Amino acid sequence: MGTIFSKIVDGEIPAHVVYEDETTLAFLDVNPLARGHTLVIPKAQYPRLTDVPPEEAADLYATVHRVVGAVQRAVDADGATVGFNDGAAAGQEVEHVHCHVVPRHVGDGGGPLHDVMGQVADVPDEEFDGIAEEIAAEL
Ligand code: AMP
Repeated sequence: MGTIFSKIVDGEIPAHVVYEDETTLAFLDVNPLARGHTLVIPKAQYPRLTDVPPEEAADLYATVHRVVGAVQRAVDADGATVGFNDGAAAGQEVEHVHCHVVPRHVGDGGGPLHDVMGQVADVPDEEFDGIAEEIAAEL
């Protein structure tokens, strides 16, 4: 069964589309965190970031790159918070990869992405080498 975003791609439910090309679509978030909050998706339904094939991932980033500037200019923003909730543990509700582009204004009361965990993790310095090696070995 398709996700709600697949239904938007297929034109089965309406959305405020701001950009479309062969592989990607951008539209306004229906519950915006700020005026102009936009979602950028691959048209094909991939549940997780790691499911997106490299070529479509490149297309997705190209659209994010275009949209980030356009959104900020359109709502006269000072910046943007841009990110993915990847997986339910990270708060992803719609299982169709989507990038949030949230316009930010000086003094808007929002925090940086670092606030998402509430505090920094207690990782001892001596563990950094091992962690980096483990990640590098997975690449
Ligand atoms: P996430 O928690 O990262 O999965 O975010 C899902 C986002 O999709 C939320 O910000 C919702 O407000 C948004 N959303 C859900 N349904 C729609 C819809 N029909 N049109 C636009 N945005 C939607």
